[in-house]
Amino acid sequence: MIRSRADSGHPAMTLTETKARTVLRTYRTLDSWFISRYAMNLYRGCAHNCAYCDGRYEGYYLPGIFGEDVTVKINAADVLRRELDPSRRRTPLTPCYLMLGGGVGDSYQPAERTRGLTRQVLEIMLEYGLPVHLLTKSVLAARDMDLLSRISRSAGVLVTVSFSTLDSGLSALFEPGASPPEERIDLLDRLKTASIPCGMALMPVIPFLTDTPAHIETAVRTAAHMRLDYVLFSGMTLKPGRQMEHFLNLLGRHFPGKIEEYYAIYHGTRRGEACSAYSDHIHSLFRDAVTRYRMPPRIPAHLFSRVLTLTDLAAVMLDQIHYLCRLHNRPSSFGAAARAVAGLREPLPTLAGRLRSINGIGPVTEKVLCEILESRTSSYYRRLLSARFS
Ligand code: SF4
Repeated sequence: MIRSRADSGHPAMTLTETKARTVLRTYRTLDSWFISRYAMNLYRGCAHNCAYCDGRYEGYYLPGIFGEDVTVKINAADVLRRELDPSRRRTPLTPCYLMLGGGVGDSYQPAERTRGLTRQVLEIMLEYGLPVHLLTKSVLAARDMDLLSRISRSAGVLVTVSFSTLDSGLSALFEPGASPPEERIDLLDRLKTASIPCGMALMPVIPFLTDTPAHIETAVRTAAHMRLDYVLFSGMTLKPGRQMEHFLNLLGRHFPGKIEEYYAIYHGTRRGEACSAYSDHIHSLFRDAVTRYRMPPRIPAHLFSRVLTLTDLAAVMLDQIHYLCRLHNRPSSFGAAARAVAGLREPLPTLAGRLRSINGIGPVTEKVLCEILESRTSSYYRRLLSARFS
């Protein structure tokens, strides 16, 4: 192991080199938020040092001090090339976007300037013709616009730029190492200009600070004016232990009057989520904003309908319909239908004449599925996504 500050790209950061045995993580099911079943972290730890980052959670077993110590998987590109090689794989890859970023480290954190692992991985994706979904808080992604454009034309790219707020003062306090929000907006602008599908993730909004109607409206209005493809939204989790302690320490130093409000909504659950009344409240603010500005609150199906198999496309669309119904306070049985389709042992098209034989598929879902099987789209889905109910 080599430890060094010299090329960390950040004065207070220590880089530790390691050789990884594996890079690609495979999940049991395809995630309908990021349209991915595979993810990779080329760095463990993150110098963006967001106060709310759940990378601090003890269950991830990250060594050192989160935000200061970052591990670099120096052989990531070689390992990944082996893992993706079709002749070496026991099972073929499920067609979907491969997720770069999120988890326990931003792929474009400062170390990437000198180490270039993300760029190497993008080159491999281009070579193998694989679609990529990037999630980042750094304008360093603009360095790789050439590769992103080429992958976008050949296999497909999504770039999701993440924010907790567009307020630069609050961002500097809670996301000290990330690019300022105005620079992230500029990155989105450049992606739009290059015709690369991209959206904003308001993930997470910070309770009682960046979750106000004004903050949410400003972000959604900005996304709409920029004609971004989508805005994703979630509240903040605070898992008991290091993550919660770190966040509440910072909050106590700068906003001591807010601590009690936090204890009122965070009850120390294992997953760290806020109580449902609070979650319902912020989702209603988000719903009002996306309805007003006609912004898709999920990644729209036209951006992945040619990437996924028909079975996965149907499962993801049903799951998104379920979310959209719930967002608009409509009853929904689409969640159960989505799980049933995702769990099928045979491809959905082989069941085309007997969809009702699938557990959880009723007459309404059957109609939606028939349309998806015929045209890879659904008029019901499109109406819900654009918040048109007539
Ligand atoms: S950019 Fe993402 S991974 Fe990095 S500290 Fe912030 S939330 Fe965590």
